[in-house]
Amino acid sequence: MKPKILIIEDEPAILLALKDELSQTYYTLTASTGTDGLELAHKEEPQLILLDLILPDIDGFSICQQLKEKGIDAAIIMLTARDQVVDKVKGLELGADDYITKPFSLQELRARIKAVLRRKALMPVEEYKDDVLEINFKRYIAKRKNKILKLSYLEFKVLRFFVSRKEHIISRKELLEHVWGYQVVPSTRTVDAHIVSLRKKIGKKYITTIHGKGYKFGA
Ligand code: CA
Repeated sequence: MKPKILIIEDEPAILLALKDELSQTYYTLTASTGTDGLELAHKEEPQLILLDLILPDIDGFSICQQLKEKGIDAAIIMLTARDQVVDKVKGLELGADDYITKPFSLQELRARIKAVLRRKALMPVEEYKDDVLEINFKRYIAKRKNKILKLSYLEFKVLRFFVSRKEHIISRKELLEHVWGYQVVPSTRTVDAHIVSLRKKIGKKYITTIHGKGYKFGA
């Protein structure tokens, strides 16, 4: 079955070009307002959403947030204009998986879509539960001993990748590639910093350091 992609874009020419290009490979759906986009996302549960940042009714950031709150587990690639650099960080904090700056080549977009879908496929686990932790990766809700934990989107993604590959040793490079992935390439120190923070929040015992190799998740 073809993966389903929802394109939310208010500029008719871009919307049409994207649909034309992508419908050869993917099952594509389109919306030209945020409201329609959210409704379609809810009804159709696409694997990926191409989300224009500036829409006539709701801005892309709020849409991103609302998608997460509704538990819509789609990967999100934001389409932004060249000068929206500050917004990039904000979007990543809100849970976008990648960015592409207009104008972009369709070839580049295809490559990004492929990469994001591949990364998403590596994180199939939707929930985790043991005596202490309870995590819903679709709704981004984490609890420790029934108390809500404040995890960032990236921490959720790191954890989801770990849980999806339980008992496997995961290198820092793998984490960078599959969790961060986007072009703002952080260093392996960023990975370590996230692990430290994650350990503090969920409890030390869950993530073990394997010297010289990386990390392993296991209760
Ligand atoms: Ca627009």
